[in-house]
Amino acid sequence: MSSFNLLQLICLLLPVAALSGWYLGKRSRQVNNLKNETLSSDYYMGLNFLLNEQTDKAVDAFIRMLDVSPDSVDTTLALGNFFRRRGEVDRAIRIHQTLLSKPNLTTKQRNHSLLELAQDYMRSGMYDRAESLLLEVTNTVGNQLEISLRSLIDIYEREKEWDKAIQVAIRLQEITKQSMGKEIAQYFCESAELAWSKGKVKTAFKYLKQGLQHNRNCSRVSLCEGNFEKKLGNFKNAINAYKRIEYQDVTFLPEALPLIIECYEALSEHQDLEEYLDYLLRHCPSISIVLAHAEKVKEKIGQERAAYFLANYMNRHPSIRGLKYLIEFHLSRVVGEVRNELLMLKSLVEQLVQSKPVYRCGQCGFASRSMHWQCPSCRQWSSVKPIQGIEGE
Ligand SMILES: [Zn+2]
Repeated sequence: MSSFNLLQLICLLLPVAALSGWYLGKRSRQVNNLKNETLSSDYYMGLNFLLNEQTDKAVDAFIRMLDVSPDSVDTTLALGNFFRRRGEVDRAIRIHQTLLSKPNLTTKQRNHSLLELAQDYMRSGMYDRAESLLLEVTNTVGNQLEISLRSLIDIYEREKEWDKAIQVAIRLQEITKQSMGKEIAQYFCESAELAWSKGKVKTAFKYLKQGLQHNRNCSRVSLCEGNFEKKLGNFKNAINAYKRIEYQDVTFLPEALPLIIECYEALSEHQDLEEYLDYLLRHCPSISIVLAHAEKVKEKIGQERAAYFLANYMNRHPSIRGLKYLIEFHLSRVVGEVRNELLMLKSLVEQLVQSKPVYRCGQCGFASRSMHWQCPSCRQWSSVKPIQGIEGE
């Protein structure tokens, strides 16, 4: 009893209550049916075993119940689900396999059982087995088809089988009439990066083009394209690709900014870079852009002017990263006790910056210091973004 909490008990007792009502209803109609009494007795016996932590005996009793009454399919499905949620996947598998061995299941009951067994296998990491069951369900129509397609996508994402994920996502899109463009574009980016890592340059670019066709606003496509072009030495093409991010999702622009600067510097187009930074400052300022601009001011006019520019910006938009740079600017100008105090302050701010996450998922709040295109926590795509505000951009 100790491992049961109240919620689990309520979950367990709900089907019992339903079954009792049904059973009493039968009694009140004075139908004396031996099978029903056997069903009830097995059910209560199973429940009793369960409450006494004799789970295997409980499963035996529930399976016996299934043998005598096809009406108990839904209750048995609920029990299998209950065991899986408790982490007792082997028992859930046994229940669902037994259910599927029954010849008199309706198509809907069979599909439901297949979906439940597939969930059991997925929970155990047996994706191949889950996949074959789900593919069987995809030959049908209705709500179960949509569930099976979503589960298949989940498997293909985990197994990194991007071609299959794309095919299934397109089919799901056709059925639900809801766009899967965001996900499909990400799958193409994954495929492109994989192709690139194998030296298949043309294929990599082809995948990116296809990704963009499914989602024009996928900033990852532009970032990947920029990276590929940059590695090929095509700095102008790289800059053009990176610059698209401003219109796709400006929150990702700080990711591309250091790369854009590297490309301009490789081309020795310093004037164009300054003009571009000026443009960004006017249209979409963030601390990354301000710091890049401050660096340019420092090179061209001097440190004092750069510090003045940065302090002026930070008066309006406080930023921990900005504060760190400001301290560094002032460090070279002071000596003695003041310098020691500034060094201590710099160390504290650095620790603060290091301890803070840089990215956060807008869906579930997952935070990290590294970028994830798919949230490791809620598994949403494109939901993890650079943090804004005093601790971020
Ligand atoms: Zn998330």
